[in-house]
Amino acid sequence: MVEVLEKQNELSKSLKSEAKRQGFNPVGIAKLPGSERIQMRTSALQRWLSAEYHGNMKWMEAPRRQNVESLLEGAKSILAVGLNYYVDINRAPGSLSIARYAWGVDYHKILEKRLKRIGLWLQKQRPNCRWKICVDTAPLLEKAWAEEAGLGWIGKNANLINLKTGSWMVLGYLLCTEPLTADKPSTPSCGQCQACIDACPTQAITEPFVVDARRCLAYHTIENRQKELPNAIKSSIGSWVAGCDICQEVCPWNHKSIPSSKDQDIVPKQWILQLTKDQVLSWNDKEWKNKLQGSALKRIKPWMWRRNALATQGQINTKNK
Ligand code: SF4
Ligand code: SF4
Repeated sequence: MVEVLEKQNELSKSLKSEAKRQGFNPVGIAKLPGSERIQMRTSALQRWLSAEYHGNMKWMEAPRRQNVESLLEGAKSILAVGLNYYVDINRAPGSLSIARYAWGVDYHKILEKRLKRIGLWLQKQRPNCRWKICVDTAPLLEKAWAEEAGLGWIGKNANLINLKTGSWMVLGYLLCTEPLTADKPSTPSCGQCQACIDACPTQAITEPFVVDARRCLAYHTIENRQKELPNAIKSSIGSWVAGCDICQEVCPWNHKSIPSSKDQDIVPKQWILQLTKDQVLSWNDKEWKNKLQGSALKRIKPWMWRRNALATQGQINTKNK
């Protein structure tokens, strides 16, 4: 028994080292079915869905999201990884604002490619092990599992926050049938702070940890397929043409000296840092297609860029790090 545990510990450690070699940090492991905290987060998701805070994001309703075992039969463990996308660069003054996660190559592609390498590495060590990659297109209660695996805690703005690297990260997962040694879940550390709740221009954070997507600029600029944005969104949109980072920008955990990514895939595309309203309105669909090649921003169709840009009102008063 002791020998089995030692081998499990050794494999878990090596798996995390492999994940770090692929550029992920933080990394951690959770065991299925998870602690009571997962049940608590699942109940919170059910309440959020019942309140219809997910707007038109119907995929959030997938029952499989609430049952991780249904994604991979016989799954015993989950490796959670974070990819830091913070770069110590500012966009050009007067340009339109685009959420930082989308400045470089589409993160789905980066995560999938690297997680696949980790899965193949694991298979070499344990040929009978089955595994499955999950990025945010798979129905997994992702932030709750990242918290469970010790990557960080879910902040009052509903983002995952790591003590050392803040919240500028995208998350990926590798489910596997191999028993692994779990890390300690993270402890919530927002304390009395509520800077994100106060700073949200649309009061979308209706109570700590609960974001009503129907009031959120990120949801409306990316997911809303209506010709017109609601008036309440138009009047608060400021310069945000794609996504919104305000509730992350004000977070004190992002104001400490956090590492600037040196990852080649994270390097921002120049046009994203200098985008003007005139460009958005003058580019035709073909130009947009070229610009959005390999970018997570492809989700925003050219007509939506024009709709969003028309609503923008120039600079708003945020740190825009
Ligand atoms: S992303 Fe923007 S609009 Fe949405 S909750 Fe955060 S601050 Fe509010
Ligand atoms: S701004 Fe404050 S309350 Fe909001 S997530 Fe950050 S630490 Fe938590």
